[in-house]
Amino acid sequence: MKTLGLLGGMSWESTRIYYQLINEGVRERLGGLHSAELLLDSMDFAPLAERQAQGRWDLAGADLARRARRLEAAGAEALVLCTNTMHKLADLIAEAVSIPLIHIADPTGAALRAAGHRRVALLATRFTMEQDFYRAHLEREHGLEVLVPEAEERGEVHRIVYEELCRGRIEPGSRQAYLAIAEGLRQRGAEALILGCTEIGLLLKPGDTELPLFDTCALHAAAAVEFALG
Ligand code: GLU
Repeated sequence: MKTLGLLGGMSWESTRIYYQLINEGVRERLGGLHSAELLLDSMDFAPLAERQAQGRWDLAGADLARRARRLEAAGAEALVLCTNTMHKLADLIAEAVSIPLIHIADPTGAALRAAGHRRVALLATRFTMEQDFYRAHLEREHGLEVLVPEAEERGEVHRIVYEELCRGRIEPGSRQAYLAIAEGLRQRGAEALILGCTEIGLLLKPGDTELPLFDTCALHAAAAVEFALG
């Protein structure tokens, strides 16, 4: 089994789900007392969130590259960056090391295509919904068309991620808000919904919406298990 290096803490509310899902995945495959070989770098999220808000991606990138090198030096054989948003810096991080980075949008795009979807909706942080790094990756590498909510709704989805989900708060009113936004996207022609922030699976569960859900946290964790066990 290969050793995975997790870049986590963004936020730890979802990193703990990665930890659980990867260990469960290894146990399912190998049985008995087997569990994953993991190295975890779990950061203090507050300074990173500040840098994001200030647009200081250069500082965030330098820090993540340093952490990635530290994981490689400690024996990691692949990197799992446990957040969609910070995949804005995926290339920079990958260039800092000689081990592969398992890109979160790849298992997501592959699962959507395998299920026969082409026109898909994305709920995520404003960075992920509005900037090019994530949508363009899905469009270019996986041939998907990506719809995002209207501007005001994007603000609300983003606010709920940082003010609630990343702080461990699961609010029924926010679930209703997400469901209403998802319904609007369905009416605009979306065939499936990407939970494009690793905390959203804490709020929305399969069956909550008419649209099939594709949880990036779960799909990324499954890809990590696949890499580890080959
Ligand atoms: N975990 C979130 C994501 O998947 C948001 C937190 C972050 O900014 O990294 O995008």
